Amino acid sequence: MITVPLLDLAPQNGALEAAYESTFREVMRSNAFIMGPRLEAFEKACAEALQVKHAIGVSSGTDALVLPLMALGIGEGDEVLLPAFTFFATAGSVARLGAVPVWVDVDPHTFNINLADAARKVGPRTKAIMPVHLFGQSCDLGALRTFASAHKLFVIEDAAQSMGARWQGQSTMSVGDFGATSFFPSKNLGGFGDSGLVTTQNDALAERARILRVHGMQPKYYHKFIGANFRMDPLQAALLHIKLPHLPSYNCARAGNAGYYHTTLRGAPGIGENRPGAGDAKILLPVDFSGQGIWNQFTLRVLHGKRDALKAFLTNRKIGCEIYYPVPLHRQECFAGVGRGADSARVAEQLAQEVLSVPVFPEITTEQRQWVATSLADFAAGKSA
Ligand SMILES: *Cc1c(COP(=O)(O)O)cnc(C)c1O
Repeated sequence: MITVPLLDLAPQNGALEAAYESTFREVMRSNAFIMGPRLEAFEKACAEALQVKHAIGVSSGTDALVLPLMALGIGEGDEVLLPAFTFFATAGSVARLGAVPVWVDVDPHTFNINLADAARKVGPRTKAIMPVHLFGQSCDLGALRTFASAHKLFVIEDAAQSMGARWQGQSTMSVGDFGATSFFPSKNLGGFGDSGLVTTQNDALAERARILRVHGMQPKYYHKFIGANFRMDPLQAALLHIKLPHLPSYNCARAGNAGYYHTTLRGAPGIGENRPGAGDAKILLPVDFSGQGIWNQFTLRVLHGKRDALKAFLTNRKIGCEIYYPVPLHRQECFAGVGRGADSARVAEQLAQEVLSVPVFPEITTEQRQWVATSLADFAAGKSA
């Protein structure tokens, strides 16, 4: 039987191995391991790719959220609107600074933050909104901007899963006061360990973030603010710089795989698309409403309480799949009694019961994706594993 991992990094990293090796040797022999021209060159290339004025390499995607919050002065008692259905770091970064997460419900079709619910939950202490472009699909960036300026909120875009995704031609990470992404190995631009990137169009904010990245120090040993060590290694930057030009082709391959699933499964019994009024399907395929998403995940909704059965079915057929995410953030143990809005994030709770992500990585083979599609059709038609 064919096996299909949820993600296989080997073919992508193997293809560029010779370049990584010579770059590693160069950096090692330079003995320059903190900051410097290799990091700056990578930052410049990222800024160009994302159409932003400033790109700042940092230690992780999580720190790429913490640093902007610090630079905007968000702390004790300040509220931040964020989706209740996302990876932990979105809310963790807020809570860690003593700020208060406001749990906003999400849209069942895009999986992204529901701005109507956000509007209901804005309060006098609300300072910022932290939308997440989840699974590689951009939020409606126009609506986001209108919302934020109407309520005078800062915007920090959590684009950890969506570097390179666009909305009507506009790049994610380019409209907020800050954008943040991650180079965690499973992201679309996956690195060799932890690192991340902060973006901004604002010179003063960029300057502040750069200073906070090095313990709030400027000049050397004179500390203006209380920062921390949020630096990205130049070795990591140099290796990612090799990979960066390939990101559009990786994203394109992912979109091709998503398109394949749609074409192959269109009209199959029990399978529909995750749009309003989808009818009585068992499995709903994710839709790229932005048309320019990057498919970090291909996340199904499995209805009628059948999600765990499909997971077992695929596992039995040696197809990798994962639940992103099984518990909405306001239901996490560490957030019991924390934040506002937990009583009305119904869609987030529903999605946690329904979602299942299946392989969509760029290098999946034709046979592998065929096997995934066949298996989804078999399950929806009621065949046994
Ligand atoms: C991965 C991720 C992060 C955190 O990135 P790390 O590099 O793992 O710290 C933050 N938000 C979202 C939505 C993510 O998927």
